[in-house]
Amino acid sequence: MATVSLKKLFKRYGATPVVHGIDLEVRDREFIALVGPSGCGKSTTLRMIAGLEEISEGLIEIGGRVVNDLPPRSRNISMVFQSYALYPHMTVRENMGFSLKIAGAPKEEMDRRVAEASAILGLDHLLERRPSQLSGGQRQRVAMGRAIVRDPDVFLFDEPLSNLDAKLRTQMRTEIKKLHAKVNSTVIYVTHDQVEAMTLSDRIVIMREGHIEQVGTPDEVFRRPETRFVAGFIGSPPMNLTDATVDDGALAFAGGTRLPLPGHFKANVQAGRKVVFGLRPDDVYPTGHGIHSGEVSDVHEIELPVTVTEPLGNETLVFAEFDGKDWVSRMLNPKPLKAGEKVKLSLDLSQAHLFDAETGKSLRA
Ligand code: ADP
Repeated sequence: MATVSLKKLFKRYGATPVVHGIDLEVRDREFIALVGPSGCGKSTTLRMIAGLEEISEGLIEIGGRVVNDLPPRSRNISMVFQSYALYPHMTVRENMGFSLKIAGAPKEEMDRRVAEASAILGLDHLLERRPSQLSGGQRQRVAMGRAIVRDPDVFLFDEPLSNLDAKLRTQMRTEIKKLHAKVNSTVIYVTHDQVEAMTLSDRIVIMREGHIEQVGTPDEVFRRPETRFVAGFIGSPPMNLTDATVDDGALAFAGGTRLPLPGHFKANVQAGRKVVFGLRPDDVYPTGHGIHSGEVSDVHEIELPVTVTEPLGNETLVFAEFDGKDWVSRMLNPKPLKAGEKVKLSLDLSQAHLFDAETGKSLRA
């Protein structure tokens, strides 16, 4: 059982805290992504799990065993880095088998494990090449092969796709997902890319400034963000977020616009409260061009001037000015719109989010 538990985990560099008491339970065979902006402590957390970084305070358990004082090689983990860290003078086969050779594994076992990993990753035809004769994607696949041959309890990935171009990154993402289905071990995957985290993971851990903002399935963190930060971080294009004040059953915006207070909030927001109103681009659409095929319950229509449009073929992103800010809406079956033109937008208020302006916490009941 390769569960991973982090208990009140702290990391300080001198007096500077960079990880502030993280608690996390990773389940056996779960694919979990640590995601957050640069500098939020993802890599440091991963490196503490790997044993590459000392723990300032707290406990790390792998498979129920405290590993705080174990060196990396005794933790039965494999790590895949952003830089592939392959040995340039060795062939693919030698690179993949190297850790087993060092561990003194018999040649037959080494050959068998390399062959297995190579078959899983489609590397058979590249085994005699050296890293310089491989493309970036192939090198990353070899780095993953090297991790697989060790048959670890836990795979740790540190931004493994960051060095690849956009197209290759998407391809490798699919490969990593297939790989997890095949090898079926616990994975902890660090990325700053929320799309990567969403598409790959069973659960996502959203980190900010050394602490965890929210842990949830991709669906949970998208539909039920617990904080304004998560709401703004998850989703592309990002959620529209605008300051407002609660006033007599309505939301009053600084520029004078008013919207009815969505029904699912009325009970727990009192008049005068400063809030942040949020609506995803999917839930604000030029009337008649929305993604919701069924009935929507709480639609409010407003007319706004278009500032710019971004045609994407199947849809167009329409930016329109709401209360002095650009809101982005998604237009399906697009028709041309000109800048300055007024457009009728349907707001599906049943999907609206409200956050406390001060604490950033969701005000959903
Ligand atoms: P992330 O992976 O989320 O981008 P890191 O875990 O790499 O973030 O870094 C978290 C914070 O710790 C950053 O502010 C970084 O500057 C700081 N940090 C990382 N390594 C060191 C170090 N060796 N000494 C001092 N500060 C460090």
